[in-house]
Amino acid sequence: MEKSVNDVWNEALQFIQDNVDDQCYSTWFEPIKPVKLQTNIITVQVPSKFFYEYLEEHYIQLLKAAITKSLSQDAKLVYSIVLENAYGNAQAPTMKLPSSGRKKHPRQSVNMPMKIGNEKEIKNPFVIPGLQKLNIDSQLNPNYSFENFIEGDCNRLARSAGYAVSKNPGGTSFNPLMLYGGVGLGKTHLAHAIGVEIKDNYPEKTVLYVSAEKFTQQFIDSIRNNTKNDFVHFYQMIDVLVIDDVQSFSGKEKTQDVFFEIFNHLHQNGKQIILTSDRAPVELQGMEQRLLSRFKWGLSADLQKPGLETRVAILGKKLYNDGIEIEQDIIEYIAYSINSNIRELEGALISILAQSSLNKKQITMELVKSMVDKFVKSTTREISIDFIQKVVCDYFDMPLELLKSKTRKREIVQARQLSMYFSKQLTKNSLASIGQQCGNKDHATVLHACRTVNNLKETDKRFRTYVDDLQKRLTLA
Ligand code: ADP
Ligand code: MG
Repeated sequence: MEKSVNDVWNEALQFIQDNVDDQCYSTWFEPIKPVKLQTNIITVQVPSKFFYEYLEEHYIQLLKAAITKSLSQDAKLVYSIVLENAYGNAQAPTMKLPSSGRKKHPRQSVNMPMKIGNEKEIKNPFVIPGLQKLNIDSQLNPNYSFENFIEGDCNRLARSAGYAVSKNPGGTSFNPLMLYGGVGLGKTHLAHAIGVEIKDNYPEKTVLYVSAEKFTQQFIDSIRNNTKNDFVHFYQMIDVLVIDDVQSFSGKEKTQDVFFEIFNHLHQNGKQIILTSDRAPVELQGMEQRLLSRFKWGLSADLQKPGLETRVAILGKKLYNDGIEIEQDIIEYIAYSINSNIRELEGALISILAQSSLNKKQITMELVKSMVDKFVKSTTREISIDFIQKVVCDYFDMPLELLKSKTRKREIVQARQLSMYFSKQLTKNSLASIGQQCGNKDHATVLHACRTVNNLKETDKRFRTYVDDLQKRLTLA
């Protein structure tokens, strides 16, 4: 029997629900209504243009995966948008909407074919025939420009070094340029901005942005397909190579070797290398020494948490770009309440805009306060292995080096096992990477540690207290 439009959509929704968090699901996917199904085209209705654009920008891959799974390989998605008078037509919505009296708005359907297989999808650079230099897609996001990157004390050095590099790639002493800092602080944005600016200044230069993970995957594929030489040659002819999140190279020796080879070639030939990492080079574990020492050849610049003023400026810029007006004291309230990182700040703003757009409510202080409250509560702080180790060492009053050493002394083994146990419980790291960061142990050791802790906390009263105390310190901090 053929599936109905509702069947197809419900199946897709289930897949989506498994892949996003609850808040995101209810904000962005619940309001979508399935409308009709014609062979392999499903039409869904979304509440506004803003909504459609947001989906396109953030969830296109997920939607594509969900629809192809529930419908067919060459499924297409068409949006129908309920156009509201208040929005004007194709203009960016301004969010000051009349909140009283819901008018019956004429409903128009605008069909926007989703670009399935769309250009944002990262193409494997190797499919380019003959490795023609000019044809390489830089994989840069033009929205991540210097223009859109707000300067503040938190990023001044990194920004100005990046700017200098973009004026003279390969020609400054900032080679490699290493940008590091915590999540959501602008590393990826700034790395793209440098690439975009170089492309602008030197259109003939080959710029390539690639995540370290993607690089690793391509390398593994090249081994499998017996094309490692092509892989190396491809990377060796890039003029400006941007590799994002190099911490993910840690523990991957073969990838590090090949990157080392490429790095040397590029550096010797005066090509620019830009790297980002979620921690300082000295703190990168599982990385070959010879590679680390090269990371330190150029400049390492860190990105820090933005202060209040910078946060206000960032929100102001985003709103300005979207053509949305909100009162200044509301902007300040949001900036004041959300100080963790810029990604969360943006996330909160977007939720507020979405709420107001969906419920046709004006953005008032009251609405913002209730949203921000929810947001601050619902975002669970990210706990890192480093943080766990620090708390455990503080608790047992022992130096961190001892925890990471090979010592088999009982108290130290116990502290190490507790660190592993909590790392497994509270972070998303794999057993292998936990082991690696807790004194270079393998995944079996971590597994054993988790079992031991589970056993001991049932049988040993004092040990149970350790677990409870640590649990409190880690989750209430
Ligand atoms: P990271 O790579 O460090 O985790 P991103 O570069 O992805 O962080 O930044 C997270 C979000 O914050 C992005 O949407 C980015 O555009 C925005 N952002 C970061 N820094 C700035 C800044 N200085 N000005 C404006 N937006 C910023
Ligand atoms: Mg990033």
